[in-house]
Amino acid sequence: MKFANIEGVRVEPFPNAHGTCPHCGEAVIAKCGNLRVWHWAHKSKQHCDRWWEPETEWHRRWKNQFPVEWQEQGRRAESGELHVADVLTPHGLVLEFQHSAIKREQVQTRINFHKNICWIVNGRRLESSLAQFERALE
Ligand SMILES: [Zn+2]
Repeated sequence: MKFANIEGVRVEPFPNAHGTCPHCGEAVIAKCGNLRVWHWAHKSKQHCDRWWEPETEWHRRWKNQFPVEWQEQGRRAESGELHVADVLTPHGLVLEFQHSAIKREQVQTRINFHKNICWIVNGRRLESSLAQFERALE
């Protein structure tokens, strides 16, 4: 996650920081290493959004194209199931930035959950990615 709450303020991670998850209220710790983008992780090791995937610089660059208040917006179904949209516009459009391949069923599950969703897919992750993506579109 790019954001956590500290004393009611939504903040990005910084070394040795502790906060709470804006979606579930659980304790989170800042992970500020050299291998992955700086992020917040649930102390319990289990993310409240079971669809959560580790973020890359590619994700961050896309998210940062949009106002911070649109980024990482949690949505809860009537069943209580929670998912965090990469971006949720004020008009209710969800933008999902998909860096890695996911199964067709996962795509459909996310469409069913968010309904009004637009996918931004990284067609250049691997040399073969663009060709694979074009085949999938057919
Ligand atoms: Zn959480």
